[in-house]
Amino acid sequence: MRPDRATPPAPSARLDGLPGYGKGRAAGARVAAHRLGSNEAPDTVHPAIARAVTAALSGANRYPDLRGETLAAALAARHGLAAAQIAVSAGSIVLLDQILRGWCDSGDEIVAPWRSYEAYPIIAGLSGAELVQVPLNTEHGVDAAALLAALTPRSRIALICNPNNPTGTALEPQALDALIAAIPAHILVVLDEAYCDFAGEAEAVAKSPAARLSRHPNLVILRTFSKAWGLAGLRVGYAMAAPEIIRNIHAVQPPFPLPGVALAAALAALDHEPAVTARIARNATERRRLSEGLRAKGVPVAPSQANFVWLPLGERSAALNAHLAQMDIAARCFDGEGLRITTGTADDTDAVLDAVASWRPHMGSASTPKPMGARDK
Ligand SMILES: *Cc1c(COP(=O)(O)O)cnc(C)c1O
Repeated sequence: MRPDRATPPAPSARLDGLPGYGKGRAAGARVAAHRLGSNEAPDTVHPAIARAVTAALSGANRYPDLRGETLAAALAARHGLAAAQIAVSAGSIVLLDQILRGWCDSGDEIVAPWRSYEAYPIIAGLSGAELVQVPLNTEHGVDAAALLAALTPRSRIALICNPNNPTGTALEPQALDALIAAIPAHILVVLDEAYCDFAGEAEAVAKSPAARLSRHPNLVILRTFSKAWGLAGLRVGYAMAAPEIIRNIHAVQPPFPLPGVALAAALAALDHEPAVTARIARNATERRRLSEGLRAKGVPVAPSQANFVWLPLGERSAALNAHLAQMDIAARCFDGEGLRITTGTADDTDAVLDAVASWRPHMGSASTPKPMGARDK
């Protein structure tokens, strides 16, 4: 074989046909004025966090915590758990990857409501397991009965995103507990709570993992500093579970899962929670304004408990997305299904509502818009 014709060795067939993380901003593309495509916090980093990062940087010649122990201890104190019940990593998406690789073999099934987080099919595909997608109900929420009915002897993991990305809907705490309780104990339940801070009382959000883990020994809860905590760029996520489960996550995980600067930032963020509380309050205000404003213009909006809203526009999604892009607004389009718009600042909300006002004439007769001023309950 001539070297110039040689192709590199082929990777595992598991990589065939993976969807790929493609929908973010293309390299070199201009940054939109209103960046509402990735559910990030719109605020720049708190000065105390910036100072903590700068201080940690001077120690960057040394390896950080072997397992992120300092952060695990702080999170354990916050949630009323033992440090042995927490694993940290560079984003909760990395923890999900480690969990699927640690628990799944080829031929296993991961059962998840769908539409949900775009990363799931990719991570599931890499694990060798099959992702079984259970359609959401007509309210764009998790269909608990359908999820239970989809479980088979091959099911290894039930993966539930609550509140769900991209629809923003959430199961009530009791309904969620009933669903987890109904899943057989030999199936690992992974509860992705990336958006939980936006869904309830801060105190309840902090205390719920301990209560829930005590009721369900087969449960892993994933959380992140990327959304309400405003640190997407520093990549900090964590898992909470029984110590045996955490031990096995650690067994999959390479050492030093978080850089020292990320550990320092997360610890500083935990010490400055009022900034997070304020962000959550603003999100609730803007989410209400955005949802009601869009509905008043005849655009359907699912009830959101997150920092984004879901517009189930079906075939019209791409047209609105293109219109928003022209108005310098970046949203996330799921072709043929819907459009997800992050709730940002008041200025972002105004920009979206203005843009949609100028789009309305093009909605077409299939849209059956509600009269101006009508509100969905
Ligand atoms: C944003 C998001 C995450 C967070 O991922 P990180 O890796 O922690 O940034 C996890 N799950 C869902 C559903 C998300 O939307």
